[in-house]
Amino acid sequence: MPLKFHSYSDSGRLGGLRGRLWFMAVLAIICTLLLATSTISASVDAFRNAQAGAENMRQFTAIFDAANLISAERGPANTLMTAGDADRTDALSKWKQTVENTNAALDELKQRDMPDVMIDGVRARLTSARGLIDAILRQPRQGRRYEEIHAAIGAMFAARDSYRRIIEWQSGQILMRDPDLAAIVVQGIALSDLREYAGRLGSYVIAPMAAGTALTPQDIAASNAARGRLLEAWDLVGPRSASPVSDLIRLKRQEVEEIFMRLGMALIDEQMALGSRSGRFSTDGAAFTQRYVMLMQPLEELRKFYLAEIVAEFEAGERQALLALYRSGLATAVLLLLVLGLVAAVQIYILRPLLKGAQAVIALAEERPAELAAATGEVPEIMRLYSAIGILGQRLGERAVLTRKLEILAATDGLTGLLNRRALENHAAKMETGRARYLILLDIDHFKSINDRHGHPFGDLVLRAIADLMRQSTQSSGYAARFGGEEFAILLAAGSLAEAAWDARKLRMALEKSPLKAPDGTMLIVTASFGVADGTGRTWSDILVQADAALYRAKDAGRNRVRIFRTPD
Ligand code: GH3
Ligand code: MG
Ligand code: MG
Repeated sequence: MPLKFHSYSDSGRLGGLRGRLWFMAVLAIICTLLLATSTISASVDAFRNAQAGAENMRQFTAIFDAANLISAERGPANTLMTAGDADRTDALSKWKQTVENTNAALDELKQRDMPDVMIDGVRARLTSARGLIDAILRQPRQGRRYEEIHAAIGAMFAARDSYRRIIEWQSGQILMRDPDLAAIVVQGIALSDLREYAGRLGSYVIAPMAAGTALTPQDIAASNAARGRLLEAWDLVGPRSASPVSDLIRLKRQEVEEIFMRLGMALIDEQMALGSRSGRFSTDGAAFTQRYVMLMQPLEELRKFYLAEIVAEFEAGERQALLALYRSGLATAVLLLLVLGLVAAVQIYILRPLLKGAQAVIALAEERPAELAAATGEVPEIMRLYSAIGILGQRLGERAVLTRKLEILAATDGLTGLLNRRALENHAAKMETGRARYLILLDIDHFKSINDRHGHPFGDLVLRAIADLMRQSTQSSGYAARFGGEEFAILLAAGSLAEAAWDARKLRMALEKSPLKAPDGTMLIVTASFGVADGTGRTWSDILVQADAALYRAKDAGRNRVRIFRTPD
């Protein structure tokens, strides 16, 4: 009897192997995504920071550029105020150009992320200073007064001083974001101051030079103060500065040292010395300005290159952060693909073949044919499993055939090939007691003497001949069996008692008409006696007793006859 198994065919449910695999895969994907999100968001933050840092530095540079333009307005303005009318046109267009440049730079700053009010303040001061310059320029050269020129220059200084608020505000922004940038901020301010105070040193000489008067003690004091500020700034950015610099900056620093600090300062010292004694300077305002502006050029370059390098450094950091962001995005994608690939590989190479194997084993257990074809690319372990299942299926098939053979053997009489007694009784037991059933018992007459006279092998031949006749008579219905020795039985499952008796008679007559050739050549007629009983509604032992009783009567009545058991009335 085949074993019964519960059917777990729905392996797609969460409890099934496939369901569990998907559950774990989804879990792995979620974990990967969580991990990736934290990595990517860290990279995004780092990139945003680097971006903001670079933008801050660009703004820092733009602010110093604008500061520089404000300072640069003083050069042509001083020339205009001090030069004769003949040199005017060129200087005027230069001044207008620097004014335009400053305005454009301030407009650009307004577009940036900084308080407008600070820029407007600077602009107002610049406008008033330019107004003073304009007023001076409207006067003829000889009519210009020292105080007026002095005041106009002072107003330009004030405008530049008011711009310091913007520089300080931006420095604060940078330091708020990253206090480690203090050195850069200080260097930037010092470089800007360096140019500013260098310019002022020149401007203090210009007014007395234009008016042809000696320097006032205030001018000398202001010039000394500017020189002090300049030297302080030079301490921070010059050769005595401790901050590491590139070769280019070192070169520019050397130029400042050789050109401005030596020649520029010497020019100032010379004119200051002349100017403090009398109003007789060795040069006029325009020539002085032209030469001095040229000597200041390295200062401007040092500032420009220094800030350009800082911006480039921050932009490189920005690019690196972007690269890191790409990399972490790529790593996430690769990780996700790996997880998906792993799930697919587990599904294709392990799970699906295992489930196929499991289905095949279940089919074998349920005695159904197991179809198991190994696909190409199956892993060796799965191939071995499949071949083991194949062998198992083959062995189970062989065992089934063997079992069937054994069952037949156990139910068969070895000599005649008829059913044996136990098999017949099994058939009888399977029949419903209420249904019609009849038993014919037959016993060979004087069989012992046949054996004795013609030998045991001939006796066996007789037994087989009778068995053949019985087989023919029960071809359509009923079971023929050898009960033991020379006793046989026929169990009929249909018809009536009369039909059963008729069957018995036919068999008796067929036997009588089938003489057998004995070993001595004589033809021997073998007969048998028959007992027939109606077993409908009776137990097996009852029917057996009754058929036996009828057989006994047949023997008693002289043998070779059929007797029917009749219940005594
Ligand atoms: P009766 O007419 O009263 O039935 O007399 P009988 O000689 O047929 O009955 P008995 O019971 O005296 O003898 C049965 C004989 O059957 C005895 C035994 O040797 C023989 N016999 C039993 N089994 C076999 C067998 O398998 N082969 C052969 N050749 N003889 C068998
Ligand atoms: Mg007998
Ligand atoms: Mg007998």
